[in-house]
Amino acid sequence: MPREYALKDTRNIGIMAHIDAGKTTTTERILYYTGVNHKIGETHDGASTMDWMEQEQERGITITSAATTCHWKGCRINIIDTPGHVDFTVEVERSLRVLDGAVTVLDAKAGVEPQTETVWRQATEYGVPRIVFVNKMDATGADFIMSCNTIIDRLGAKSCPIQLPIGAESDFTGIVDIIERKAEIYKNDLGTDIEVTEIPADLVDLAEEYRMKLLEYLADYDEDLMMQVLEGEEPSVEEIKRVLRIAVCAGDFFPVLCGSAYKNKGVQMVLDAVVDYLPSPLDIPAIKGTTLDGEADERHASDEEPFSALAFKIATDPFVGKLSFFRVYSGTATSGSYVLNSNKDKRERFGRIVQMHANARKEISEVYAGDIAAAVGLKNTTTGDTLCDEKNPIILESMEFPEPVIELSLEPKTKADQDKMGLALSKLAEEDPTFKTYTNEETGQTIIAGVGELHLDIIVDRLRREFKVEAVVGKPQVAYRETIRQGAECEGKYIRQSGGRGQYGHVWIKFEPNEGKGFEFVDAIVGGSVPREYVKPTQE
Ligand code: GDP
Repeated sequence: MPREYALKDTRNIGIMAHIDAGKTTTTERILYYTGVNHKIGETHDGASTMDWMEQEQERGITITSAATTCHWKGCRINIIDTPGHVDFTVEVERSLRVLDGAVTVLDAKAGVEPQTETVWRQATEYGVPRIVFVNKMDATGADFIMSCNTIIDRLGAKSCPIQLPIGAESDFTGIVDIIERKAEIYKNDLGTDIEVTEIPADLVDLAEEYRMKLLEYLADYDEDLMMQVLEGEEPSVEEIKRVLRIAVCAGDFFPVLCGSAYKNKGVQMVLDAVVDYLPSPLDIPAIKGTTLDGEADERHASDEEPFSALAFKIATDPFVGKLSFFRVYSGTATSGSYVLNSNKDKRERFGRIVQMHANARKEISEVYAGDIAAAVGLKNTTTGDTLCDEKNPIILESMEFPEPVIELSLEPKTKADQDKMGLALSKLAEEDPTFKTYTNEETGQTIIAGVGELHLDIIVDRLRREFKVEAVVGKPQVAYRETIRQGAECEGKYIRQSGGRGQYGHVWIKFEPNEGKGFEFVDAIVGGSVPREYVKPTQE
């Protein structure tokens, strides 16, 4: 089967937001407009959306899938799920690892919020290009310009609106396109009847002001454009879009759009911007890795290179069982063929490969560079593993997973709980590489360890809900099973726990000498900036 979409027409994106900013609603509407959902919350109230969600669930629809594929204007867009709860270091890291660009959703009432800063910082760390969607323009208190200013003031980002809202709150009726110098007025509730008009007279000056600002920013990215701006010439719309794409793909400039996902306004323009400005796999640097001998190697986004892919999420699906989601970086692979899991040194058979759409699961026979898909039944693969061509093995640079820092004991309430618990815990550990479980040899208790208290709260909650296990939960303790290899130089100082990087930044641990018996743990700091007493270990 030949490739369906050219690499340049592929977008692997995430939608990132502060909880409640409208990530779910925006994703739903994207799936609606891209034609894969045939229904939308009819009366636009919370309840109908819920009904819709329940229906979807009944039919086994995968809106909450780790990756959902949809199509827009000749492009294939894979939406990689990024968690709303950014406390989940590992979930955020693994999605950031495999996506090429993102839409950051802001709530127009609040602009940049604390959690936005966290996801923003992480995305910057991973060099993920972004566009910003200021959502909820229909809500009371919505303020687009204030929201745009918070991007500059609070995130210190180079950013400029490329749209303006027409009206706000209940009078929000349309959107000005600053680049194309036109306006779109929404005529119906579903946002499908759109009238294209001139920019309303009262917004012309503001639109021109921002257009000029945008051109000044863009001049830095292109000599020709710079000359045109300096000489007072008018660059064409195509020219502006071309340079804006360069600026966004550089991960360095962030255009801002507006709308209301809930009221079905502006979502199609977000999709247009995803296609126009966010990178394809060809626009991102080659992925680095090592050969089995430890030599540096890399793979480019091309079907001609040997197959390489990274497993980024393991999920349990009610229909097919274990699903391993993977992102192909290079080459192709067909279902039924064997690949090497180079981290585990095991052959794995690609029995069935599936792609998740909002309302269907599509079985595919071949995957290509840039694709995102899921394999059914890979036995040995866990999150972060490389799957590659057996004859050209590579271990791709994977995600860094933090070591567990908090642990607690679990005492099953009944014998039945005991039996179920072991199985449940091993399943959870398979899905989540930062979650560990072991038995305390002295007390015989089951201990679970994770990257934070919330992490363990969620695990205990999942045990209860999904696996129906009731257990008495002990007090959280700091886990420090990490070996201290740095020796005396870190005496009384904080050191970074190896691998401990994530949403909270690093995990810092302080040790002091213990009467000739090595070192004793005295304190741990999760996140924050580098502690004052930090010492850089010689071998990190
Ligand atoms: P998430 O937590 O980021 O996934 O946010 P949701 O999509 O679940 O939205 C959170 C709440 O905001 C829900 O009650 C939505 O109905 C509401 N919401 C989402 N988008 C909009 C919008 O454009 N306008 C208004 N007024 N409410 C919205």
